[in-house]
Order: sequence, then C-alpha cells, then structure tokens
Amino acid sequence: MRTTNWMVTAALLVSLSAAAQQAANSQSPAPASAPDVSQGSQSSQQTAAAQPAPAPASQPADVQSAPEAQPLPAPAPAPTTMEDVVNLFIQHEHGLIKMLAKRTPIVETYLQNLTLDPQLGPVPSEDHYFLGRMDMGETIDRKDYLKEEEKSMQQRLMGGFQRLYKVQYQPLGFSWMVYADRTDFDRNHYEFRYVRREFLGDVRCLVFDVTPKKDAGRGRFLGRLWVEDQGYNIVRLNGTYYPAPRNSYFFHMDSWRLNLIPGYWVPSFIYSEEGDFSAGAKNKMAFKAQTRIWGYDLKRGNKDDELTQIRVDSVTDETPANQDASPLQAERVWQQQAEDNVVERLVGGGLLAPEGDVDRILQTVVNNLEVTNNIDLPRPVRTRVLLTSPLETFSVGNTIVISRGLVDVLPDEASLAAVLAHELAHIVLGHNLGSKYAFNDRMLFSDDTTYQNLGFRHIPEEEEAADKKALELLKNSPYAQKLENVGLFLKALQARAPALGALLTTHLGNPFASNGTVTRLAALATQGPALDNTKLDQIAALPLGGRVKVNPWDDKAEMVKTAPVAITSARDKMPFEVTPFFPRLSRYGAGAPTAAAPTTTAAAPNPSTPGSN
Ligand SMILES: [Zn+2]
Repeated sequence: MRTTNWMVTAALLVSLSAAAQQAANSQSPAPASAPDVSQGSQSSQQTAAAQPAPAPASQPADVQSAPEAQPLPAPAPAPTTMEDVVNLFIQHEHGLIKMLAKRTPIVETYLQNLTLDPQLGPVPSEDHYFLGRMDMGETIDRKDYLKEEEKSMQQRLMGGFQRLYKVQYQPLGFSWMVYADRTDFDRNHYEFRYVRREFLGDVRCLVFDVTPKKDAGRGRFLGRLWVEDQGYNIVRLNGTYYPAPRNSYFFHMDSWRLNLIPGYWVPSFIYSEEGDFSAGAKNKMAFKAQTRIWGYDLKRGNKDDELTQIRVDSVTDETPANQDASPLQAERVWQQQAEDNVVERLVGGGLLAPEGDVDRILQTVVNNLEVTNNIDLPRPVRTRVLLTSPLETFSVGNTIVISRGLVDVLPDEASLAAVLAHELAHIVLGHNLGSKYAFNDRMLFSDDTTYQNLGFRHIPEEEEAADKKALELLKNSPYAQKLENVGLFLKALQARAPALGALLTTHLGNPFASNGTVTRLAALATQGPALDNTKLDQIAALPLGGRVKVNPWDDKAEMVKTAPVAITSARDKMPFEVTPFFPRLSRYGAGAPTAAAPTTTAAAPNPSTPGSN
C-alpha cells in the first residue's frame, strides 16, 4: 500500500529532438481506420480534430534495432474505437514500466521556495537540491548521492516547517510521477474520458482525462494524459494524486516523456509548482521545482555490480620510442592518466556528458583566450560539460569542466569566457590537483559515492591567484570590451546568492560564493552598470534550462536553439530561476529538420550564441 507518497510535477523547456540518433525508419502510415472520436468526446475545437486521423497502430517495423534488446510491446491491431485506444496505452504503459524496470537513471530535482516580491513577482527565497539514482524497478528507491547534505536538509525542514512538509520533500517523492500509476493502471481503478486531439510539438496526441474510480484507494492519479496517435504511448501526464492520505499532501505535476528509442517514450522531465499569491491567500507553501532524469543507458549490468571497471588502455604512451620518460615527461603522462581516469569515471557515472557539440563551443572560447594570450601548453586544453544544475567549474589536468546549470544562466559569451578563464588560469599556473587519481585504486568506488571520492577544490591562495590571472587573460582577449557584462552577471548572482544556497553549493570544484557572498572574480563585480530590474534590456543572468539540452538516454548535450522571446516586464527576466518545461516533442528519428524549438517559456534574450562572436 502506498500511503505516503510525495508528488511533484514537472515540465520542461528543453526540447529534445531525437535528431542525433539514427533514424529508425519513417513510420509507415498504415491507413487504418481512425478511432471513433465521437465516443465520449467533447466537441473538440482543436484544429486537428477536423483532419482524418492516420492511425498506424503498429510500432515501427525495425524496432528490434533499438539500442536495447528489450522486447517491445506486441504490435497491436489498429484501434477502431476510443476503448481500443485506452486499452492500447494501458498496455504500453505496462510495457514501459517493464522495459525500464532494470534501469537506474540519475534523477536530479532542483527546488526553489518562493516569496512574493512586489516588483518581480514570486522569487526564490531558498532552494533545495537532490541528486540520486532512481531504481525503476518495482520498489522505487532513490539512493541519494548527497547523503550528508540530505540529512542536514531534512533537519532544516523538520525544524522550520510543519511535519507533513518534511514528508513532501523526501527525495523519494520526486520519482513517483514518472508513471501515472505504477501498480494499478487499469480500467478497474480508473475512468478514462476522451477530450480532444492536440499537437504537442510535432506529435499529434489524443487527450484523455483520467479519474480514479470511487474505491480505487488513495494516491491515485487524477488529471490528464496525452497519448501520441501512432504507437499510442503516453507522452505527457499532468495532474496530481488523489485522495491524499491524512497528514499528507500531493504536489501537482507536469511530466514529459521523449521518444528516445524506437517504440518507447521515456520519462524525462517533471515540473512541479505550488503556491497561491493572490490577495488574501494564505501561502503556507510556495515552490517550483524541476526534476530531470538522465543516464538511462549507463552501462551497468546488474545493480549489485556497482564498481565500474577501469580501463587505462586508452591512455597512449607519449614517451619517445625506446626511451624512458624524462622526469618532466613522466610527470605529464602521469597527469594525463589521472585526467583520463577522472573524465572516464565521471562519464561512466552519468555526471559528465560524452564529448559533443557543446564542448566545441566551449573550446572555441578557450582557444580565443589562449591565442590572444600566446598560451602554448604541451597538451591541448579540453572542455567538458557536467550534467548537473549547481553552478560550478573545476579542472583536472588539462580538462576544464563546467556545469550545465552554469552554461544555462550565463547571459553572453564574455561571461562564459570569464568563468572559463578562471579554470584556464589554474591550468596555466600549474595548479594541478588531480594527479592522485592516476592511482587506479582511487577510481574504485560506487557511483553514489562519487562526490565523496572525487574533489578538485583549490586552497584560497590558488583561488586568488587564478582570479588574478583570469583577469589578465580576459584583458588581452576579444572579451576585454565586454567585461561590463561579466560584472553585471556577478551582481545578479550576488543579488540572488543568499536565497540560492543549494544552486551555489558545488560538489566537485570551488564554489562561486561562500556564506552568501560571491567571491569568484570579485574584481570584475564592480565593473559595469548597476543592476536595474526595471531596465528590460538589461539581461544580467538567464533562467535555468535555456541553453543546454541533454538527451536523457545517452547523456549527450547540445545547445538549445530557441527563438528569442521578448521580455515585456521585469518578471520575465527570472534570473537563475526554475521555469516549466515545454519540450518540442518529435518522434524518434524524425527530429532532424525541427532543430529550432520556439516553445520555450523562458526569457531567452539576445543569445549572442557562445562561440559565434
Ligand atoms: Zn578555482
């Protein structure tokens, strides 16, 4: 019996096209008869309603070529009535639950509590962060990466809020909404009522309202489902759970799935929001939270086999033939070995994106800094993206790592250059921390203790030296004339820092701020104009989620291409804030031409796209 479930909702603004993946095939539109739309339907005012529905009910023929050797739901006969459609998506939901049962993807939830600012509307007052692995099997259990932090966070919640509040924020709760109902999703427990047709992105959907039957028990899904009209899979769930047990409370959720492998739509993003700021409302609780799921395809045979194998054979021996390495050469090879070990380990643990497009953009910026400063290192500097939200950078060997969340919120290329310059300075100054990871025993740890076993924090003296050097590098660079923007970004960060302790808590590198005061690149913080929320053209920092999108199946990261959305009030700026998700859905293999996703709700202003200066 699940009596205490905790729900959160999610939505997303990143559109994940499956474009990068091999096209399965074009779905052959088997001309089946359309489902009987009239049955139980409202008069649908949707544009799509008038069109005849091509209803190719069967899955693409070559589904067996999925990255997975998973059995697919058996191709069903074309549905002829809405009853058939309901039976099909129920069946496919069970198929999805079964297919994912052995997966342990990474789940990240970032939550901002809100308070009302008369000028800016609801703004973050404090934040919380969870990162863990979710066991998609029957017993849902999130192993938190952040065990220590979790404890203190729970203590905080216990001390500061009423009892039931604590329960709601249990990390476990954030994993429930990946499915409508994990155990009893069937006609015995639910009523399904067809509403209309509707497009989500490129995908035409049938929309159903779902209500639990009278005696279905507590914590049942109540809300709306979107079911795509070719394979009849659920692609979006929006609603809550009902009825709530005593002393408990369910969040509202908006849960999105992406067609990342043939035949399956995989839970990817969940947005949740609670709070009522209307006059007279008692806003006991107000928050918004994004949950992201990724790392479905991390290679791990069974759950007990948590130690990742180390492979050092990829490290090439660069010493000249027939000679021992000189002491300096030996030192460099040693450092590279450590660097490769760490990078490989972080990719294997699902924390670092595989090499990809975003790296090339970051590398361009680093190159700009290097060339204009005549920096010539024995080994090239590489850049990689940490897949998590907290704002952080670190370097190991000659690899600079920057978090997804940080790339998201940086307003322009000069600000990106500034944060990269700090790490480049560490490399130039020889502040190498990682060499101990050349010892392979140090790589033998389970994924959920990654943060306890890896760390790249510099002593304060090195931090200071790196900031100083970074300033020097920037002043010689093409970004010298744009450092006012960096100053503005740092001011915006300072303005929000006291409320965003979790976003500013780093897990591998040095933090940008300590005790609510921004310390990174402090010399630049005085540059530029004063922060002014009323100036709509002053964009000091962006919301989270607007720049980098991650493929939840293979962890590949790419830059989002969003059309700029005009900012019409100070409330549109939402610096460092969580926003709903609204991915542009597309079918597996069909995403290629739809690169631009004008669906973001985020303020994505003047994206002087990094790399294209
Ligand atoms: Zn540093």
